[in-house]
Order: sequence, then C-alpha cells, then structure tokens
Amino acid sequence: ALTAGIVGLPNVGKSTLFNAITKAGVEAANYPFATIDPNVGMVEVPDERLDELTKLVQPKKTVPTTFEFTDIAGIVKGASQGEGLGNKFLSHIRQVDAICHVVRCFDDENITHVEGRIDPLGDIETINLELVLADLESIDKRYTRVSKIARTKDKEAVAELTILDKIKPVLEAGRSARTIEFTDEEQDYVKSLFLLTTKPILYVANVAEDEVSDTENNAYVKQVREFASTENSQVIVVSARAEEEIAELDDEDKAEFLEALGIEESGLDQLIKAAYDLLGFATYFTAGVQEVRAWTFKKGMKAPQCAGVIHTDFERGFIRAETVSYEDLKQYGSMAAAKEAGRVRLEGKEYVVQDGDVMLFRFNV
Ligand code: GDP
Repeated sequence: ALTAGIVGLPNVGKSTLFNAITKAGVEAANYPFATIDPNVGMVEVPDERLDELTKLVQPKKTVPTTFEFTDIAGIVKGASQGEGLGNKFLSHIRQVDAICHVVRCFDDENITHVEGRIDPLGDIETINLELVLADLESIDKRYTRVSKIARTKDKEAVAELTILDKIKPVLEAGRSARTIEFTDEEQDYVKSLFLLTTKPILYVANVAEDEVSDTENNAYVKQVREFASTENSQVIVVSARAEEEIAELDDEDKAEFLEALGIEESGLDQLIKAAYDLLGFATYFTAGVQEVRAWTFKKGMKAPQCAGVIHTDFERGFIRAETVSYEDLKQYGSMAAAKEAGRVRLEGKEYVVQDGDVMLFRFNV
C-alpha cells in the first residue's frame, strides 16, 4: 500500500500526532490482512459522500476506505552524514510515497526545542537540507558515470546529462528538486533517480490548541505557508494535542469539541484528505443493499484495474461496469431512478474511472 511518512525534528509533536492517528485508527481486527507494524497507523478516509450513500441505500453495513501513515522518527541535523539514526532515517523516507513534515508552531517553555528556539523556517530548512544532501550524493555519483559515457556522444547519456545539469545546481544551492519544472519525458528519467526531494510533501503546522481557529494571525504558520508556496506544497494546520483528545471521542462529542475549538473539521481529517489527494488517490463506491463501500484507486486507472482493487478475479474476468456518478445517484435518489433518467452508463475496458463513480462490475468467473 502507498503510505505517507511523518517526519519532523524532535519535540515538534510527531509522536502526539501519530498517537492521534493510531487512536482514531481502524481496529486491526477488522482488517485481517493488514500488516501489524507499530510504526504504521491505518485511518479511515472521511468522506461525506459515503454517509450520503448510506442514507440512500440503507445497507447492512458501510465500509470506508483506509489510508496509511508511517511514523519515521530520528531525524537530526547531520543525518545525511550518518548522525543519529541518520542513514536508517533516510532509507525509511526512501520507502514512503509522500512526506508529512510536522513543524513546531507552538510556544511552550516547558518543551525544549532542539535548537533552543522556535523557528519553523529554520526547522524546515534543517530537514530539507539533510534530504538535499542525500540527493546530491546520489546525483554526484550518477553524474560522474553519465558524463563519462556522454563524452562518447551516446545520445541517451547526453540527454541524461542535460537533466542532471538541471538538478545539480538546485541541490547545490540547498533547494529541493521538487522546485524544478520537468517536462513529461524528463519526469520519467527523474523518477528513476529515486530522489528524496522530489517526493510530494505536505507541511503540518502544529499550533497550540487555542490558536487552531485563528491561524491567519499566527506568525509561525505564516512563515510555513510562505515557504510552502515557493515549492507549490500545501500546509495543514493542526493542534496535535487537541487531535489526540479528539481521536478518543465519539462523533457527537467530537462535533462539540470541534465547535469549542472553533473549527469545522478536525486537523487529522484534513490531513488524511490532503495526504490522500497528494498521492493522486481518488475514491469510487460500490453501493449494494448488503454493503456500501468506498474504494481507493489511483487517478488514471481504468475500470478493470479498479475492479481489481476489490478482487483480482474481478479484473481478470472484467466484462463491463454499470456506472453512475455520485452526483447523479444523489439527485435521482436510487439506481433504478437514475437508470430511468438515462444516467447509468455501461462502461468498458478502456473507461478511465472518475472520482465519485458508483460502480457495479460485471465479470466472468
Ligand atoms: P516528537 O519528538 O516530535 O515526537 O514530539 P512529541 O509528540 O513527543 O511532543 C513533544 C512534547 O510537546 C510533548 O510533551 C507533547 O505533549 C508536546 N506537544 C505536542 N504538541 C503540542 C502543542 O500543540 N502544544 C503544546 N504546548 N505542547 C505540545
């Protein structure tokens, strides 16, 4: 499964946030095939459409789709030189598909900051620099090899070198490779480099509980937002401490708590949605009387592949999919009414599934 890794300097609130994730998380017993790894927290993806479909169809049960976060502890300054758990840390980051970078945006004299001051930008730079240095090391190695071959006028090597020449100076200037714009062709090659600083990243500004409703005036958050915009990254504001408490509440108490905090949606829910989106995930639904269920697919996947998310047999024997958009189903109130209105389509093997599609797969066994 694709996973988003939680990183950050010590004492910024990573463990607190990860605790919230595990507490809010799904019970392993409901997912017998899930791997039990203490560093992985599996959460349900909040989706109002699923609630709405449940109301429409009144199924025996409703199953949300899930999303995984991995806790990656241990970054300190000098990680790329093997300080602390440095190398281990970097290899863990290499394995995640997206990065959630927790940044301390709360003042608290009782909680020591590793560098002795609250400085979100400095913190971001510290971590990003370690990742940049690790990337620079791999690019340098590649550069030496490729430039030798390029001297023989080998076309492929010359093309590679052009791309490396684009990346190297940016890393040398201490900036992440995600700030570079690549063409589609370049992108394919860049993927093969497995860089850390091209991974999609989400900055999680951890603020004090009483500041979560008014982040416009939080100078720390402002700094994080400004930085994130320079690399087209997103920022989610959370109070990890509040999230830890919220995670233990039932829906009713949760709503009350959120109201008291002055926010509409919990930071964790926002984080889950943003991370899901960042990875290029989308959701389709199946809506039968037995079960209404949300399924995760990657944007761009075709109908048979999406059927394969449910079961490999569905993909192998795929014939077609009765498909209606969530909006249409909601408007017409039932599958039969949507059909009558001509809103239910029969889609074949080449159909690119859209976020919000409600699907019924026909297949040979
Ligand atoms: P980690 O080292 O990044 O995993 O940080 P922790 O999650 O262990 O948090 C370090 C300390 O900061 C703990 O004592 C937390 O209770 C505290 N902490 C986390 N978030 C907040 C917050 O929003 N406000 C305050 N005042 N303390 C927090």
